[in-house]
Amino acid sequence: MTTLLINSVYRATEGEGIHIGIPQIFVRFQGCHIGCVNCDTKETWDFDPAFTKSLDEVMESVEVLSQDLIKRVSITGGDPLHPSHIPSLIELIKELKARNYFINIEAAGTRVVKEVFDLVDFISYDFKTPSTQVKTSKELLLKFLEDYSHKAQIKAVIADKKDFESTYDAFHFVKSQKMETQVAWCLTPCYEPGEVFPMNRFQQVIQMNEAFGLPFRVIGQQHKWAYGPSDRLV
Ligand code: SF4
Repeated sequence: MTTLLINSVYRATEGEGIHIGIPQIFVRFQGCHIGCVNCDTKETWDFDPAFTKSLDEVMESVEVLSQDLIKRVSITGGDPLHPSHIPSLIELIKELKARNYFINIEAAGTRVVKEVFDLVDFISYDFKTPSTQVKTSKELLLKFLEDYSHKAQIKAVIADKKDFESTYDAFHFVKSQKMETQVAWCLTPCYEPGEVFPMNRFQQVIQMNEAFGLPFRVIGQQHKWAYGPSDRLV
Protein backbone atom coordinates (compact mmCIF):
# COMPACT_ATOMS: atom_id res chain seq x y z
CA MET A 1 0.00 0.00 0.00
CA THR A 2 1.34 3.43 -0.93
CA THR A 3 1.63 5.78 2.03
CA LEU A 4 2.67 9.42 2.11
CA LEU A 5 3.66 11.95 4.75
CA ILE A 6 1.02 14.64 4.36
CA ASN A 7 0.65 17.75 6.49
CA SER A 8 -2.67 18.85 5.00
CA VAL A 9 -4.96 18.82 1.99
CA TYR A 10 -7.00 21.99 1.53
CA ARG A 11 -8.72 24.11 -1.03
CA ALA A 12 -7.62 27.69 -1.59
CA THR A 13 -7.52 30.44 -4.14
CA GLU A 14 -3.92 30.52 -5.33
CA GLY A 15 -2.17 33.28 -3.46
CA GLU A 16 1.12 33.87 -5.30
CA GLY A 17 2.96 33.44 -8.59
CA ILE A 18 1.52 33.60 -12.09
CA HIS A 19 -1.47 31.43 -11.21
CA ILE A 20 -2.65 33.93 -8.59
CA GLY A 21 -6.41 33.93 -8.19
CA ILE A 22 -7.04 30.39 -9.44
CA PRO A 23 -8.95 28.13 -7.03
CA GLN A 24 -7.12 24.86 -6.52
CA ILE A 25 -6.43 22.07 -4.09
CA PHE A 26 -3.17 22.04 -2.20
CA VAL A 27 -1.52 18.83 -1.08
CA ARG A 28 1.14 19.79 1.45
CA PHE A 29 3.81 17.20 2.18
CA GLN A 30 5.24 16.87 5.67
CA GLY A 31 9.03 16.81 5.95
CA CYS A 32 11.75 19.18 4.80
CA HIS A 33 15.50 19.23 5.44
CA ILE A 34 16.29 22.35 3.42
CA GLY A 35 16.16 24.80 6.33
CA CYS A 36 15.37 28.26 4.90
CA VAL A 37 15.81 30.57 7.88
CA ASN A 38 12.78 32.68 6.92
CA CYS A 39 10.55 29.65 6.25
CA ASP A 40 6.95 30.41 7.19
CA THR A 41 5.93 26.73 7.42
CA LYS A 42 8.45 25.36 9.90
CA GLU A 43 5.75 23.06 11.26
CA THR A 44 6.26 21.01 8.08
CA TRP A 45 9.93 20.24 8.74
CA ASP A 46 9.70 17.06 10.84
CA PHE A 47 9.45 13.74 9.01
CA ASP A 48 6.93 12.71 11.63
CA PRO A 49 5.24 9.34 10.94
CA ALA A 50 2.13 10.65 12.70
CA PHE A 51 1.39 12.42 9.40
CA THR A 52 1.22 9.17 7.44
CA LYS A 53 -1.76 8.84 5.07
CA SER A 54 -2.61 6.23 2.52
CA LEU A 55 -2.81 7.25 -1.12
CA ASP A 56 -6.52 6.41 -1.04
CA GLU A 57 -7.06 8.76 1.90
CA VAL A 58 -5.26 11.60 0.15
CA MET A 59 -7.20 11.05 -3.07
CA GLU A 60 -10.46 10.96 -1.17
CA SER A 61 -9.64 14.32 0.43
CA VAL A 62 -8.79 15.76 -2.99
CA GLU A 63 -12.01 14.49 -4.54
CA VAL A 64 -14.17 15.78 -1.67
CA LEU A 65 -12.61 19.23 -2.03
CA SER A 66 -12.79 19.12 -5.82
CA GLN A 67 -16.53 18.44 -6.05
CA ASP A 68 -15.74 17.95 -9.72
CA LEU A 69 -15.44 21.74 -10.01
CA ILE A 70 -11.73 22.16 -9.38
CA LYS A 71 -9.37 20.05 -11.44
CA ARG A 72 -6.11 21.68 -10.36
CA VAL A 73 -3.77 20.46 -7.66
CA SER A 74 -0.67 22.16 -6.29
CA ILE A 75 1.78 19.86 -4.55
CA THR A 76 3.75 21.74 -1.94
CA GLY A 77 5.50 21.26 1.36
CA GLY A 78 7.62 20.88 3.28
CA ASP A 79 9.82 19.56 0.53
CA PRO A 80 7.82 17.21 -1.70
CA LEU A 81 11.03 16.54 -3.66
CA HIS A 82 12.98 15.14 -0.71
CA PRO A 83 14.32 11.76 -1.90
CA SER A 84 12.32 9.88 0.73
CA HIS A 85 9.07 11.31 -0.71
CA ILE A 86 9.78 10.55 -4.37
CA PRO A 87 8.29 7.05 -4.75
CA SER A 88 4.99 8.00 -3.08
CA LEU A 89 4.96 11.40 -4.80
CA ILE A 90 5.15 9.68 -8.18
CA GLU A 91 2.26 7.40 -7.26
CA LEU A 92 0.21 10.42 -6.21
CA ILE A 93 0.97 12.26 -9.46
CA LYS A 94 0.03 9.22 -11.55
CA GLU A 95 -3.27 8.88 -9.70
CA LEU A 96 -4.07 12.57 -10.11
CA LYS A 97 -3.22 12.42 -13.81
CA ALA A 98 -5.45 9.39 -14.24
CA ARG A 99 -8.29 11.54 -12.87
CA ASN A 100 -7.46 14.46 -15.19
CA TYR A 101 -6.06 16.93 -12.69
CA PHE A 102 -3.70 19.69 -13.80
CA ILE A 103 -0.69 19.39 -11.49
CA ASN A 104 1.64 22.11 -10.33
CA ILE A 105 4.56 21.27 -8.07
CA GLU A 106 6.33 23.78 -5.86
CA ALA A 107 10.04 22.96 -6.03
CA ALA A 108 12.54 24.33 -3.54
CA GLY A 109 15.24 25.10 -6.11
CA THR A 110 17.78 22.66 -4.71
CA ARG A 111 17.11 19.69 -7.01
CA VAL A 112 16.03 18.85 -10.53
CA VAL A 113 14.04 15.63 -10.30
CA LYS A 114 13.44 14.45 -13.84
CA GLU A 115 11.14 11.57 -12.98
CA VAL A 116 8.79 14.01 -11.26
CA PHE A 117 9.18 17.07 -13.49
CA ASP A 118 8.48 15.06 -16.63
CA LEU A 119 5.11 13.99 -15.21
CA VAL A 120 3.67 17.27 -13.91
CA ASP A 121 2.04 20.06 -15.90
CA PHE A 122 3.83 22.98 -14.26
CA ILE A 123 6.79 23.62 -11.96
CA SER A 124 7.10 26.60 -9.70
CA TYR A 125 10.85 26.63 -9.09
CA ASP A 126 12.42 28.63 -6.27
CA PHE A 127 15.54 30.67 -6.70
CA LYS A 128 16.80 30.76 -3.12
CA THR A 129 18.02 34.23 -2.18
CA PRO A 130 20.75 35.05 0.40
CA SER A 131 18.24 35.86 3.17
CA THR A 132 17.06 32.23 3.12
CA GLN A 133 20.66 31.05 3.79
CA VAL A 134 20.01 28.31 1.23
CA LYS A 135 21.56 28.42 -2.22
CA THR A 136 20.20 27.69 -5.67
CA SER A 137 23.27 27.38 -7.85
CA LYS A 138 23.10 29.21 -11.16
CA GLU A 139 24.26 26.03 -12.90
CA LEU A 140 21.34 24.07 -11.45
CA LEU A 141 18.94 26.81 -12.47
CA LEU A 142 20.29 26.71 -16.00
CA LYS A 143 19.95 22.93 -16.14
CA PHE A 144 16.34 23.25 -14.94
CA LEU A 145 15.49 25.91 -17.49
CA GLU A 146 17.10 24.02 -20.36
CA ASP A 147 14.61 21.21 -19.88
CA TYR A 148 11.53 22.76 -18.28
CA SER A 149 11.21 26.45 -19.08
CA HIS A 150 8.18 25.67 -21.28
CA LYS A 151 6.18 24.83 -18.16
CA ALA A 152 7.74 26.77 -15.33
CA GLN A 153 8.03 29.95 -13.34
CA ILE A 154 10.93 31.04 -11.16
CA LYS A 155 9.98 32.42 -7.75
CA ALA A 156 12.27 34.38 -5.43
CA VAL A 157 11.58 35.70 -1.96
CA ILE A 158 13.04 39.18 -1.51
CA ALA A 159 13.91 40.52 1.92
CA ASP A 160 16.30 43.29 0.86
CA LYS A 161 18.50 44.72 -1.87
CA LYS A 162 21.01 41.89 -1.55
CA ASP A 163 18.27 39.39 -2.38
CA PHE A 164 17.14 41.48 -5.32
CA GLU A 165 20.68 41.81 -6.70
CA SER A 166 21.33 38.11 -6.29
CA THR A 167 18.16 37.30 -8.27
CA TYR A 168 19.07 39.86 -10.91
CA ASP A 169 22.53 38.32 -11.20
CA ALA A 170 21.01 34.84 -11.77
CA PHE A 171 18.55 36.27 -14.29
CA HIS A 172 21.43 37.83 -16.23
CA PHE A 173 23.48 34.66 -16.04
CA VAL A 174 20.62 32.77 -17.70
CA LYS A 175 20.29 35.46 -20.35
CA SER A 176 24.05 35.44 -20.97
CA GLN A 177 23.81 31.76 -21.91
CA LYS A 178 21.72 32.88 -24.90
CA MET A 179 18.86 30.79 -23.68
CA GLU A 180 15.62 31.67 -25.43
CA THR A 181 13.11 31.46 -22.62
CA GLN A 182 9.98 33.39 -21.82
CA VAL A 183 9.80 31.94 -18.33
CA ALA A 184 8.33 34.36 -15.79
CA TRP A 185 10.48 35.38 -12.85
CA CYS A 186 8.22 36.33 -9.93
CA LEU A 187 9.43 38.22 -6.90
CA THR A 188 7.56 38.05 -3.62
CA PRO A 189 8.41 40.21 -0.61
CA CYS A 190 9.70 38.18 2.32
CA TYR A 191 7.49 37.62 5.35
CA GLU A 192 8.82 37.29 8.83
CA PRO A 193 6.90 34.56 10.66
CA GLY A 194 3.70 36.04 12.08
CA GLU A 195 4.12 39.31 10.21
CA VAL A 196 1.13 41.09 8.65
CA PHE A 197 1.43 41.94 4.97
CA PRO A 198 4.65 43.99 4.69
CA MET A 199 3.42 46.90 2.59
CA ASN A 200 6.69 48.86 2.75
CA ARG A 201 8.79 45.88 1.70
CA PHE A 202 6.40 45.18 -1.16
CA GLN A 203 6.75 48.78 -2.38
CA GLN A 204 10.54 48.58 -2.06
CA VAL A 205 10.63 45.46 -4.25
CA ILE A 206 8.51 47.24 -6.88
CA GLN A 207 10.86 50.22 -6.74
CA MET A 208 13.99 48.06 -7.07
CA ASN A 209 12.42 46.35 -10.07
CA GLU A 210 11.81 49.74 -11.66
CA ALA A 211 15.37 50.84 -10.94
CA PHE A 212 16.76 47.68 -12.58
CA GLY A 213 14.74 48.01 -15.80
CA LEU A 214 11.59 46.02 -14.90
CA PRO A 215 12.85 42.48 -15.55
CA PHE A 216 10.53 40.77 -13.07
CA ARG A 217 6.95 40.33 -12.07
CA VAL A 218 6.30 41.43 -8.49
CA ILE A 219 3.52 39.51 -6.80
CA GLY A 220 2.56 39.59 -3.13
CA GLN A 221 0.90 36.69 -1.40
CA GLN A 222 -2.78 37.56 -1.57
CA HIS A 223 -3.84 34.89 0.91
CA LYS A 224 -1.87 36.82 3.53
CA TRP A 225 -3.62 40.09 2.68
CA ALA A 226 -6.97 38.37 2.86
CA TYR A 227 -6.56 36.14 5.92
CA GLY A 228 -3.61 37.51 7.88
CA PRO A 229 -0.32 35.81 8.76
CA SER A 230 -1.47 32.87 10.85
CA ASP A 231 -4.26 31.23 8.88
CA ARG A 232 -2.58 28.22 7.28
CA LEU A 233 -5.20 26.41 5.20
CA VAL A 234 -6.09 29.28 2.87
S1 SF4 B 1 11.98 24.57 1.30
FE1 SF4 B 1 9.99 25.43 1.87
S2 SF4 B 1 9.33 24.26 3.67
FE2 SF4 B 1 11.49 23.83 3.37
S3 SF4 B 1 12.54 25.31 4.70
FE3 SF4 B 1 12.44 26.25 2.66
S4 SF4 B 1 10.53 27.46 2.67
FE4 SF4 B 1 10.42 26.03 4.43
